Parts: sequence; structure tokens; C-alpha cells
Amino acid sequence: MDSDPRRSETLYLTLDIESDYGRSDSYEILSQAAPFIDWLHAENIPLTAFVVGKLFQQGHSIIDTFLRAGISLGVHGFSHSPDTFGTMHASHADEIQKGMEAFEKRVGRKPDGYRAALGIVSRDDVLLMDKLGFCYDASIFPMRRSHCYDFSGLPKSPFQWQGTNLVEIPLGMLTATLPAGMTFINLLGSELSAFLVKRQVSSLSGDDKAFHVTDLHFHNLFPYYPAMNSLPFIMRLVYQAGSIMGGLVTLRRYVAVLRSKGFVFGNLETDALSLRRESLPVVGLDCFNRML
Ligand SMILES: [Zn+2]
Repeated sequence: MDSDPRRSETLYLTLDIESDYGRSDSYEILSQAAPFIDWLHAENIPLTAFVVGKLFQQGHSIIDTFLRAGISLGVHGFSHSPDTFGTMHASHADEIQKGMEAFEKRVGRKPDGYRAALGIVSRDDVLLMDKLGFCYDASIFPMRRSHCYDFSGLPKSPFQWQGTNLVEIPLGMLTATLPAGMTFINLLGSELSAFLVKRQVSSLSGDDKAFHVTDLHFHNLFPYYPAMNSLPFIMRLVYQAGSIMGGLVTLRRYVAVLRSKGFVFGNLETDALSLRRESLPVVGLDCFNRML
């Protein structure tokens, strides 16, 4: 590629589309998506959404709604079920393969991007994604999550997995241990979250400033209490607090504050596919040998 999309301070909104709260059997919140899509359109904000394979398989109407709205789609595993989450040492071959096949059948082409449930990927997963022809993965949180992964030593900006053609786009962070996910932005509020993002980005240098990825879910924007009430106690508390303190209003404000700080908004998929591979750092797969 001749042009590298990287420029200063670009923020990428990404959305994971899965069952309500990521572990229930219902998909009720998807029916509340319209105000969010209208807002994206009105504000001219690009979005890349990672969708569970089950929804591609079902031919859920959210797929057509998103395609009509010009939203880029990637794969977010197949089932998003807790018994398949595993750790950085487990293979998620079924989730990746079935997710890809469901995407292909529904959308009519191969997917370019992947995001694993809870951001849990392994060495085998990276090799499989590369073999299946995925161009980029946007799963890694550069931090440690107890009993799941330790990616705290990985770069905070795009890199290439050694011996593969797969680019990794790590998720943004608010602090060294707190990811830039809407669950936390709801709790901290838009002003403090935007301040923390700016501070994180300012600590990077040159091209590395460009990719700051924020992750959100529909359940961060629109509550659905029957599914929320069936969550484990601590999760329920977090989402209850988030539904009182945050939501679409908080996201709108977060975007407005970041714009006032000079951020521009990019499309993750478009820019991930345009990266100049030769300028990216290369990370060896031995990082997966790390103990949890
Ligand atoms: Zn998810």
C-alpha cells in the first residue's frame, strides 16, 4: 500500500454484537439499536462491528441494518458462550471457523477482521486466523486478566504476528490496567474517560498515537433488565450502575469531548487494511508461553 492511514490521534469506535450482556440467551437489546445508528449517521462517525456467527447464521435483521448503514462487519466468534471462553492457552478453533463460515454464507465474501470473545486468543488461534485468510485481529487487550491472559507486555499500537500475515490491532486503554471499554466509560463518565484517553495517547510516540480503539456493546447503551438480572452478582452491580450513570448520552458526550481535544474518528477495518505492513513492529508467538 502506498498510503499509511496513521496520523495523530485517531479514535476508532468498535461494537461487539452478541447476546444481551454477552452471556444470556436473549438478543432483545438489538431491537433498540436505531437511535445509535441514527446518531452515527448524523455525526458522520464510522464504525466497525464484530458480530457473533450465530446472528449471521440466523440471518438476523441487524446484519442488513448495519450493511445498509455502511458499517464494516467482522466476526466475533460463533457462540459467545462462557463454556467456550477458555484462556490464552486454549484453542478456539471451532469458534473461529464456524464464525467465519457463517459470515461468508450470509455476507457473500470472506471476512477480513476478527475479535475473540472477551479478547481471549491463543497461539493456535493466531495461526488458524492467518491460515483462514483473516487480515487483522482486534482482540488483544494489552493488560493482564486473571485466569484468562497476560498480554501486558505487548505493544499498545498495531503490530504483525511473526511468521504470519496477520496484523493485530490492540484495544485502547484508559489506564495501565483499565481498558477503554464502554462498561468503564459509563462508570467513570465521559469527561474523565476522555481525559484518560488523551493522556494514554500522549504517552505514545509518532505513528503509535494513531490507533486508539474504544470497544462498546449495545448493553452499554440500552439496558434490558430481564437479562441483566440473571447476571452474576458483581456483573449485575456494574451494569446496573452503568445503566444509571451512562448509556448513549455518555457515549455522545465522550465523542464530543474527544473531538474538542483534537481527535478524529476513523473506520478500524478500512485503516487496518491500509496499514503499511513493513512499518509495523513484529511480535513473536512466544508471548503466549507466559504463565497467567
Ligand atoms: Zn463479546
